[in-house]
Amino acid sequence: MKAGKDKVISLHYTLTVDGEKVESSLDGNEPLWVLLGHGQLIPGLEKALEEREAGESFQVEVPPAEAYGERQEGQTQRVPKKYFQQANKLKPGMATTLALKQGGHRVVVVQKVGMTTVDVDLNHPMAGKALIFDVTVNEVREGTEEEIQHGHAHPPGGAAH
Ligand SMILES: [Zn+2]
Repeated sequence: MKAGKDKVISLHYTLTVDGEKVESSLDGNEPLWVLLGHGQLIPGLEKALEEREAGESFQVEVPPAEAYGERQEGQTQRVPKKYFQQANKLKPGMATTLALKQGGHRVVVVQKVGMTTVDVDLNHPMAGKALIFDVTVNEVREGTEEEIQHGHAHPPGGAAH
């Protein structure tokens, strides 16, 4: 079966950025389960998985525009420490999660830590970077009605809802 919209794919991947390994599903031995065509992956990786079949291995370089976007200047913001979890552990250069007023979270990069505020760069840490994925496809199957309704894959052993 070929991968495509509404198919569920399980894969192992290693992500390399600027010549350094950033993360790999092989570290935890659990493959990643994804329902394709529902925005679970960055667009460039989703595109690269189209038409793939179980057993295929490939490498793809995803440009910033199809990953986390280009870096934008003037994205520094001063934020009260109360908006951070574990604000006292923050250091310049660290990526951290910021709770947004309108709900949800955003990954930001710490620039400067003050007494009561933290300066952060709102660009995603991977903005402006080309992402290199080494991918092995384990399995491709039809998405179930429930999965398509939920917009995500249900791995064996149950989904983390
Ligand atoms: Zn679900």
